[in-house]
Parts: sequence; structure tokens; C-alpha cells
Amino acid sequence: MDFFDKIGKKASETYKGAAEKTGRIAKETKIKMAINENKGKINDLYKEIGKKVYENHVREEKQNIEEEIEQECTKIDVLADEIEDYRKEILELKDKKQCKKCNTEMEVNSKFCPNCGAKQPEDAKQEAKEVEIVEDNKNNKEEK
Ligand SMILES: [Zn+2]
Repeated sequence: MDFFDKIGKKASETYKGAAEKTGRIAKETKIKMAINENKGKINDLYKEIGKKVYENHVREEKQNIEEEIEQECTKIDVLADEIEDYRKEILELKDKKQCKKCNTEMEVNSKFCPNCGAKQPEDAKQEAKEVEIVEDNKNNKEEK
């Protein structure tokens, strides 16, 4: 590979890096919007539950609303689970992970939590990355 080829390669790598970063930010914004949407839906459900409870309170003949309330609560569970998944997606985008014990954010390859000191389980994704790097090194050597 001659000098100019190297420069061209370097420039395209830099460009690729910038494009990837922009893509990541766009994705993160989109996920954050989805989280806010779910939060709005959860608030609506809270209001709905409160209204149902109050309406039953003022009713002369009380109805059994337990099942109805339970259904609304299950909807909140689903939305909250989705928010949890979205948060994980954002962490992955930023190459970060959360402490299993105290939920502190840290670099994906951290072995211990910087907040509580808990040992972090080995990250499967990180291991996969390391395997790729080893494979790359092998390929490079074979070229020479
Ligand atoms: Zn921790």
C-alpha cells in the first residue's frame, strides 16, 4: 500500500467514525423520545386508575373494580419493562453498562463498579469484540 492509499484509507475511516457517531446520536434521540412517550402513557394510566378508584368511592353501590385496576396496572408493567429495555439500548449505544447492584453507569469493560465496588460479570458482547481483534491480528500477520 503506498502513501496516498494510506491517507485515503485513514480519511475514510475518520469519516466512517463521524458518521457512526451521528447515527448513534440520532438513534439515542429516537429511543429517548420513545421513553418519554411511554412515560406519558404511564401517567395517563395513573390518572385512569385514580379516576376509577374515586368514581367508585362516590358511587352509592360499590362495584368490584379490582380486576379493572389490575388490568391497568399490568399495562403499566409492560410500559415500564419497555422503558427498561430502551435504557439498556442507550447504554449499549454509548458502550456503557449498569452496575447490577447499584445501577451506576460505567464503561462496558469495567471490572468493578466505581460507585459501590461490586465485581461486574464479564460482558459477553465485550468478549466477542476481543475475539474479533485477535482474529484481525491473525489476518494481518498472514498478509505479511
Ligand atoms: Zn455499583
